[in-house]
Amino acid sequence: MLTEVRKEKLIGLCQELIRNPSISGGEDKVAEAIKKNFELLGYDDCYIDAYGNVIGHIKGKGSGKTILFDGHIDTVPVTDELKWKFGPFSGEISEGRIYGRGASDMKGQLSAMIAAASYFAEDTDKEFDGDIYVAGVVHEEIFEGVAARKISDAINPDYVVIGESSELNLKIGQRGRGEIVIETFGKPAHSANPEKGVNAVYKMAKIIDKIQELKPTVHEELGQGILVLTDIKSSPYPGASVVPEYCRATFDRRLLVGEKKESVLKPIQELLDEMMKEDEQLNAKVSYAVGTEICYTGETITGERFFPGWLFDEEDEFVQAAYRGLKKAGLNPKITHYSFCTNGSHYAGEKGIKTIGFGPSQENLAHTINEYIEIDQLEKGAKGYYGILKSVFNK
Ligand SMILES: [Zn+2]
Repeated sequence: MLTEVRKEKLIGLCQELIRNPSISGGEDKVAEAIKKNFELLGYDDCYIDAYGNVIGHIKGKGSGKTILFDGHIDTVPVTDELKWKFGPFSGEISEGRIYGRGASDMKGQLSAMIAAASYFAEDTDKEFDGDIYVAGVVHEEIFEGVAARKISDAINPDYVVIGESSELNLKIGQRGRGEIVIETFGKPAHSANPEKGVNAVYKMAKIIDKIQELKPTVHEELGQGILVLTDIKSSPYPGASVVPEYCRATFDRRLLVGEKKESVLKPIQELLDEMMKEDEQLNAKVSYAVGTEICYTGETITGERFFPGWLFDEEDEFVQAAYRGLKKAGLNPKITHYSFCTNGSHYAGEKGIKTIGFGPSQENLAHTINEYIEIDQLEKGAKGYYGILKSVFNK
């Protein structure tokens, strides 16, 4: 299916996306570039939504299932440009690799999805029953699964393919992630008379000790529901000769399948209640961190930082259809799960939509200096997406 002409187009598309820098919240140029390519590649329609996500649509001649391919279009920033072998936005090709920020996370994967869907439409002359959508999604790097809500609301997919790199394996789940905030409230005093105040940091130190004794939840495939301190802040800061009256610590909690907002906070709340009973000067509160991000369209996205985990059965019909499609495309995928958080948190974790992950390249190339994607991987990725479509639509 990948003729020489198609290979050239695919490589050119990947380079073009890399040449449009797109840190989270600044994805406008790359969204426009993708929209233009949807039009050039014969998509039936395409649009940019209020958050700035760009969505292309191919309609089969008959009606049937709707499949969505999801790839985020934001990247992490480039901090030390001078250390790069090639310009991070050059899309330079060297020794079979395309270099640039986002090449492996995930402009390469998205290019492969965009191209594969259009080649499938061309080869079948759209004689298939259903709809194909490819979405370039904003704000994944800092707020996974949140901008994706707008897309699933609009198109209501039956199946989702997350394109994050899986080294060409088939992913059927991931741990989720929650950001938990604990606050302690003390009483300010001059540090020459600390006994007149209540030191909020001392109180927090006790909580931090105790919280590490909590037993993590366990899932036999996904591992532990780890809880780890990631930052701490006191106020006033700096505290010149003053006992701090406030302290806030953030914990990262890895979420297992089925864990809910309330069930995750419960053991922490119980611990705090118990500690407050023993120490009447302790005043502590637990909640989820709330994130607010501004989209390049001007729209604001707000939400609690709680991104659920998910896992499907290997025998699930969509998993099996995807597996057969990948095999027929000449790949040899292992069925496994992601070790990091993706937009699947929304589709599968929040909405229960059948979701898999499949993408070319190695996940450890993401966010690195000299990020690249091998052209061979890019091509195999496109073959894989094409194979999934053939299998899902029985072509
Ligand atoms: Zn990514």
